[in-house]
Amino acid sequence: MINYNRIIEIIQKYNSFIITTHVNPDGDAIGSELALAYFLQKLNKKFLIVNHSSTPENYTFLDEENLIHKYNSSFDKEILNAEVLIAVDFNTIGRTRSMVEILKRTKAYKIIIDHHRNPQNFVDEIFVDVDAPATGILIYYLIKNYDEKLIDKKTADALYTAIMTDTGSFRFERITPEVHHVVADLIARGTNATYIYNKVYNEISFEKLKLLGESICNIKLEMDGKIAYMILDRNILNKYVPSDEEFDVDGFVNYCLSLKSTILGMLFFELKNGVKVSLRSKGTFPVNLLAEKFGGGGHLNAAGIRLDGEKLDDVLNKVIQQAKEDLINYERSLK
Ligand code: 5GP
Ligand code: MN
Repeated sequence: MINYNRIIEIIQKYNSFIITTHVNPDGDAIGSELALAYFLQKLNKKFLIVNHSSTPENYTFLDEENLIHKYNSSFDKEILNAEVLIAVDFNTIGRTRSMVEILKRTKAYKIIIDHHRNPQNFVDEIFVDVDAPATGILIYYLIKNYDEKLIDKKTADALYTAIMTDTGSFRFERITPEVHHVVADLIARGTNATYIYNKVYNEISFEKLKLLGESICNIKLEMDGKIAYMILDRNILNKYVPSDEEFDVDGFVNYCLSLKSTILGMLFFELKNGVKVSLRSKGTFPVNLLAEKFGGGGHLNAAGIRLDGEKLDDVLNKVIQQAKEDLINYERSLK
């Protein structure tokens, strides 16, 4: 259980805040940052949201005031002088990429608000609830603990987006009646569920839809279909989205799990210099443990790995090999 009063104490004590989140921010990361910022705004606190990545296009509708900035060294002074750093929705400093050095240098009092397992100790205080389905729900309780009247429509939209996206639209493991109560409250405060869903998921480009189609056509199976995986190499990526920028293929990997046979789904994304792997599972197969073997992390059913400077073929070989081993051991353990 998170001590929300302690977070409120920190917020009340200080005046200037930096908010940041992980590389390739998802809806939970962006929604949590903005809801927290709207809260600080109402308390007349000085704040700056600054991230390694730019905000994915489908979440920009939440940030009407353009409060979120993409990091460059012109922000260093403000980061160094801030009194508090709030890291949301991640727990290892490496996930802030280009910001690692400046975050190490700042003397700001650092806290994490998050729902991932095994936090790394790079901050002064950690507020984590691994049972929470989204960081957004923790921000909801934080604001509610202070004064629920501060959850206005704009804040509710940000929190709804955070919870909707991290729960796969309210269908993943950690959904409870309590989560639905929170969501009901957000809708009562003015959030339009259809509007948010359409903004987040139904405005992709034709190219991205075709990329999804080809990714599905090329799904490969291992172990009688217990493992299904997609490979997005530079060839296929360049065909549809010719850009070096790492872009969001959130949701693609879930199609691997739509097969009846599949327990483990994987997506290999070839970066300009390295590979990103997304892992998803059904039931109790712990993809976070598989990810941790390669320096990644995440949750029981959703995790990720990032291997900088490594070649796609090497990563494919070693991750698939390890996945098979883990799955064999897992099935043994069930007997
Ligand atoms: P995704 O595959 O959608 O990028 O990430 C799935 C989950 O794994 C998310 O909860 C995310 O926070 C976590 N995750 C993804 N990539 C990494 C990584 O490189 N390191 C760690 N520690 N966690 C990751
Ligand atoms: Mn999250």
